Amino acid sequence: MKKRAFIVAAAAFFAAAALLYLYFTGEGEGAGIPCMFHQLTGLYCSGCGASRALRSILHLDFYQALRYNAIFTISLPLLAVYFSALGISYIRFGKDRISGKISMFPVWIIIAAAILYGILRNIPAFAFLAPTCLP
Ligand SMILES: [Zn+2]
Repeated sequence: MKKRAFIVAAAAFFAAAALLYLYFTGEGEGAGIPCMFHQLTGLYCSGCGASRALRSILHLDFYQALRYNAIFTISLPLLAVYFSALGISYIRFGKDRISGKISMFPVWIIIAAAILYGILRNIPAFAFLAPTCLP
């Protein structure tokens, strides 16, 4: 139990350190990790703008977060609840007792939405979905 709690606490510590680092980056910089897909193709993937969106969320600028990456911003609360429950399950039982209890249907809907989002944001008619910074 202590070892598992230590592992979860270490993961939470590193996540908090990453969020703290992200908080102090400049507007529009994000984590500074370039997207390989975007660098190779010039197209936006579903994740492009996610770290900039997370930075905006940390600064409570939710509108700008939606402008950087709407699918990430919308799904972040679900991801936070899922990974928190996963950590608690790991501490209490030593294994994942969460994932098996979740219906896969909404998960597939979210994955399909993320793929569709990644396609649409590269079509000129949906250019508003591309990561953009307000002037
Ligand atoms: Zn990308």
